[in-house]
Amino acid sequence: MVKIEAAKCTGCGGCVNLCPDAAMSLSSKDVIAVDEKLCSKCQICVKACPVRALSM
Ligand code: SF4
Ligand code: SF4
Repeated sequence: MVKIEAAKCTGCGGCVNLCPDAAMSLSSKDVIAVDEKLCSKCQICVKACPVRALSM
């Protein structure tokens, strides 16, 4: 599963736009969330996050 370090996330939305399975979402409070049922564990988001807020 994708681990999120919420304190690092800037809410840029980059990972949301790149996720091929639409598994990521950004709440109104700029908090990122991953729907594990949709995530194919491709790691695109992990590699793309500019502040390394995501890991697997
Ligand atoms: S690992 Fe891939 S499928 Fe899962 S949330 Fe990240 S970009 Fe989306
Ligand atoms: S790419 Fe990183 S900083 Fe941007 S919304 Fe996703 S987790 Fe947050």
